[in-house]
Amino acid sequence: MEKYWHIFTSSFSDYGNYLWRELLHPGWGNYFYWLLGLSLFFWLLEIVVPWRKGQPLIRQDFWLDGFYMFFNFFLFSLVGFNALSNIGVEAFNDFLGLFGIQNLVAFEIQSWTVWAQLLTLFLLRDFIQWNVHRLLHRSDFLWRFHKVHHSVQQMGFAAHLRFHWGETVVYRTIEYIPLAMIGFGIQDFFLVHIFATAIGHFNHSNLHIPLGPLRYLFNNPQMHIWHHAKHLPHRYGANYGISLSVWDYLFGTAYLPEDGRDIELGFKEVEAYPKSFLEQQFHPFKERSAIPQEEAGVEKEVTAIPAEEVGQLN
Ligand SMILES: [Zn+2]
Ligand SMILES: [Zn+2]
Repeated sequence: MEKYWHIFTSSFSDYGNYLWRELLHPGWGNYFYWLLGLSLFFWLLEIVVPWRKGQPLIRQDFWLDGFYMFFNFFLFSLVGFNALSNIGVEAFNDFLGLFGIQNLVAFEIQSWTVWAQLLTLFLLRDFIQWNVHRLLHRSDFLWRFHKVHHSVQQMGFAAHLRFHWGETVVYRTIEYIPLAMIGFGIQDFFLVHIFATAIGHFNHSNLHIPLGPLRYLFNNPQMHIWHHAKHLPHRYGANYGISLSVWDYLFGTAYLPEDGRDIELGFKEVEAYPKSFLEQQFHPFKERSAIPQEEAGVEKEVTAIPAEEVGQLN
């Protein structure tokens, strides 16, 4: 037990020091300044070439989302979550040890070239996340947490990181085993994480930058806005892509019926959803189980999205 307590406390002090170092030392390998730089970049683009021209530069919940960025990217991910996950990983390894298993690595990809490794990590992780995201919509319990992200009513780049910390726990826990099986450690995430952050900011931004055929590969604002639509034909939503849109096209969950620039966002009764950070943190634990189809504001249920509705616009 003492071992776990030591891991817990040293995780906090290690990452507390790390966070402080990050703030004091700007550089290319620094998460904080990458996040700041990417945010300023997309905000500037939103100012210069906005998709919704009437949307205020400081849109609704801009500062709330700004705080979420800092909280989810640093305070929780790097400090709180690491303390928990270091314990989780240690406990998991101890558990495996009971069966004589030393590690989970099924095949080592560390002998591959760096680019092949990074590409594998990116594709595998994005596909796992696409599945986890679907699960967040399918599970009644998980949807309560994911609603925080869907409470966005005016879209902009910063909405990307408005999500409940419970989501980080779900994503990272599910990702852990498959990534451990191919021998990845947390230190490998930097480039992939920055790239995914840039695409995530882009998906949520108030921009219309035509991607041409690449829109079938990469997620984009014209696609992701439909993920946030208040009214959807499918009870569990559509366009679950995180960085890549290709999974939705491959598995028939893509939905772009028309130009979504001015559609209503959120879910049924989103107006009554808590507005402050703290209330949003506690709300999923208090909320009674809700039926997703009611929450999603569904008017009719369809079992599949007609092929002709897929990818018409963009
Ligand atoms: Zn979602
Ligand atoms: Zn989103």
